[in-house]
Amino acid sequence: MENIAFEALLALIDDLTDEQRATFIKVLDENKDFDKVATLLDNRILAKRECLYCKSSNVKKWGRQSGLQRMRCFDCGKSFNALTGTPLAHLRKKEEWIKMAAALKDGLTVKDTAEKCNSSISTAFRWRHRFLKAMKGDVAEHLEGITEADETYFLESHKGSRNIPRKSRKRGGKATKRGLSSEQIPVLIARDRTGGIVDAVLPDQSKKSIKVVLGGKISKENILCIDGGNALWGFACEGNIPCRVIPASKHVHERNPIFHIQNVNGYHSRLKNWMSPFNGVATKYLPNYLGWRRMLEKPKPVLTPVAWLQAAAKPARQ
Ligand SMILES: [Zn+2]
Repeated sequence: MENIAFEALLALIDDLTDEQRATFIKVLDENKDFDKVATLLDNRILAKRECLYCKSSNVKKWGRQSGLQRMRCFDCGKSFNALTGTPLAHLRKKEEWIKMAAALKDGLTVKDTAEKCNSSISTAFRWRHRFLKAMKGDVAEHLEGITEADETYFLESHKGSRNIPRKSRKRGGKATKRGLSSEQIPVLIARDRTGGIVDAVLPDQSKKSIKVVLGGKISKENILCIDGGNALWGFACEGNIPCRVIPASKHVHERNPIFHIQNVNGYHSRLKNWMSPFNGVATKYLPNYLGWRRMLEKPKPVLTPVAWLQAAAKPARQ
């Protein structure tokens, strides 16, 4: 802007009403937040300078698209930006994204998130799950050394669905049948002593389902600590994975106290306590909440809103 025009703009500020002044400040702040998000995302793509499609380095800046740097590949002819192929592609109002990331970091309810992000409750809910999509599949590639594995259970919930196969329960509710039943959804969590985590919602309690989740992530190099459940025991035997069974009545292995499942059971408790204010999470969203909790368990310095945004703006792994 020319200096003369800028001075004219400054002179106009004196004539603003209080309401206009507040709007003006809000617009300036939003621009700042939008630029911050765009710069963060652009930096990533500019640092890599590699085609998203064919990995060629023959790429050049090619204008802007939705506030982001657009790149064009001169080998395959395709263009892309930092959000192409990520769950955040085409999501609007980037100026609110840092606040959304902060809401996830602080574990806010949908209502509080909506207030913080100046959005409706339905938008806040939709954004939450778009942000969590990339984190959902971001589990450890391999688990190291002593690894504790155990299942925990969540009451099945059709919250938010139009077709509910039974009379709905109120706010989370209780199972109608005692003990384990089809109403209880098994969740497997495996955790090594470095904090590496692999988790998943299981379709059933079979050895085959455990193998789909842990296969390739645990090997003969690990020592698996379990509480003696048939499926995990069967999985360990089949893969010749050294295994220590800690009976539910004991806290540690009888002969060597280094073998126990207290870390994974502690994780189960933290997961359940943290989820209780959400009042019965719909089963279809359970994997997203597992990813959210996994991110919260990372070392504290990692947990800035910017880190949360970067984690959300990655291609989703299944
Ligand atoms: Zn290309």
